[in-house]
Amino acid sequence: EYVIVDGEILDRTVAKVDIEDRGYQFGDGVYEVIRVYNGKMFTGKEHLQRLVESAEKIRMKLPYSPEELEPKMEELISKNELDTGIVYMQFTRGTSPRNHVFPAADVAPTFVAYTRKVARPVESMEKGVRSILDEDIRWLRCDIKSLNLLGNLLSKQKAAEAGCFEAILHRGETVTEGSHSNISIVKDGVIITHQADNLILNGITRQKVLEICSNEGITFEERAFTLDELSAADEVFSSGTTVEVMPIVEVDGKPVRNGEPGLVTRNLQNLFKAEIERQCGQ
Ligand code: PLP
Repeated sequence: EYVIVDGEILDRTVAKVDIEDRGYQFGDGVYEVIRVYNGKMFTGKEHLQRLVESAEKIRMKLPYSPEELEPKMEELISKNELDTGIVYMQFTRGTSPRNHVFPAADVAPTFVAYTRKVARPVESMEKGVRSILDEDIRWLRCDIKSLNLLGNLLSKQKAAEAGCFEAILHRGETVTEGSHSNISIVKDGVIITHQADNLILNGITRQKVLEICSNEGITFEERAFTLDELSAADEVFSSGTTVEVMPIVEVDGKPVRNGEPGLVTRNLQNLFKAEIERQCGQ
């Protein structure tokens, strides 16, 4: 298994990161997860662009452009003979003696990437998954895909312990997103999902789904919705790179409508699959 450390492809067993790497000590860095189908990256350019934007938001300059990163990831995928899975990549603000203040400008970011086999979650996508509600205790820059995920982890762990796939987060009455995905509801045929602001990560999957809706004439609203609207929804779904479009059939022990995936969600799943096949082949 090969990995990338600081731009070089190495065997995983010899790859090393320093104990004073700022990612390790502070979570001072940004990351991306890109889906791979048939050995090809899906929406790779969009993910690499968001990586650059996340880095800029934490005042970090990446040593590579998206145009330079793309072939590196392709090489890694090919060397690992990855068919269906993910590429994980992260940049931290480098290694220097522990200090909250940023290191000097000549300290280079640490760049790590690896691949992993991950199947499409076909059974869950077919049947739908369960969820819990949890207060969103994260910071106010959830638009940055940063390595600081403790708030997300605590919520996801609570969901896992309840036998659920996702924790739906809310700030008071307002639903924001999931612990590791974006959340949308469907009411009277209209899809509603939180606007892309500082309270959510603007998921690439979320954006792709909305683009599909525009093309297909499916109505959607990007706005905050409440816990009451969530309870009264006809359908609820989660979206994310590894989970694609995932029907949520239960929230905090209560079934969503009849407890089965709804038709709008089903239709989106099919349209999303068609988009994957268009970009990456059958
Ligand atoms: N929101 C959070 C908190 C996430 O961790 C993720 C990651 O999957 C998403 C949303 C969905 O983003 P994307 O569709 O780009 O994977």
